Amino acid sequence: MESPIQQYLEQLLAEVQHLGAGAPYDVHPAGREPRPGDFGICLATVDGRVYSVGVADQEFSIQSISKPFSYGLALADYGFEAVDEKVDVEPSGDPFNQISLAPVTGRPPNAMVNAGALAVAGMIRGAGGKSGVRRIVDTYSRFAGRDLTSSRSVFDVEIRQSDRNHSLAYLLSSVGIIENDPTRALEVYLRQCAVQVSCRDLALMAATLANGGTQPLTGEQVFEIDVVERVLSVMMTSGMYDDAGAWVSSVGMPAKSGVGGGTLAVLPGQAGLAVFSPPLDGHGNSVRGLETCRRLSTDMEMHFVRSA
Ligand code: GLU
Repeated sequence: MESPIQQYLEQLLAEVQHLGAGAPYDVHPAGREPRPGDFGICLATVDGRVYSVGVADQEFSIQSISKPFSYGLALADYGFEAVDEKVDVEPSGDPFNQISLAPVTGRPPNAMVNAGALAVAGMIRGAGGKSGVRRIVDTYSRFAGRDLTSSRSVFDVEIRQSDRNHSLAYLLSSVGIIENDPTRALEVYLRQCAVQVSCRDLALMAATLANGGTQPLTGEQVFEIDVVERVLSVMMTSGMYDDAGAWVSSVGMPAKSGVGGGTLAVLPGQAGLAVFSPPLDGHGNSVRGLETCRRLSTDMEMHFVRSA
């Protein structure tokens, strides 16, 4: 007998599949065009049960969903005070790549927009013989519970289309937010965006955050609870680009989307949710991802006001 959750997810997938709006992100290696019809939903509970329907194991680029995990790594490495000096925790309501730095300090508003993510990437250093990028990929892997890799071919096309990100990195360097080579910070950021994940990986990464930083399958504590608390708070207010306010009202879960088509949402203490569907709306959020999370939040009472 199939579980009621599995049956529910299958029905949800069938109902949301027909949404045809939006267009996939158009920066990708030749021959690796995203398929607009691909659609997967995964739910991972904090006790390690994983439910998946549709395209659950195919890899795609994590893109902006990397931002909260690198932010957490910087907080764990350097402490809150040092990171807060470089990146604020205020929602910006701006598009992801907005050139939005505070007037005097140049501090980006939060770590979920590119300016903040570049500032974070500029902080992360290698350690124990590992490069900064290696440490980032290792951290994401510990969240997913398997070894992930960063795609070189995705990085190569992204860096050629990154004029705005180059500008942001140099601006951040000009005000001392990035203290070392700005091109190096940009490289770290784009390599983290190019990490390949599946919908199932993202659900387990979300479930690890839901579980206070301990990966449900491996039992490894990846982040301390104070880091998880900060990361989820910033995701709640700023995780969904310039659609974050509408998201909190209608879905009410800390979340992060990426232009690769992934959406990740966290129900603290209970479960992690991930959706993969490449067509994006004007904010850069996945159209089916939004609709799936809205329905799940309503049907399963996941909004933070109801789930408590
Ligand atoms: N690599 C993309 C950029 O920084 C990521 C954007 C995103 O997922 O929001 O332009």
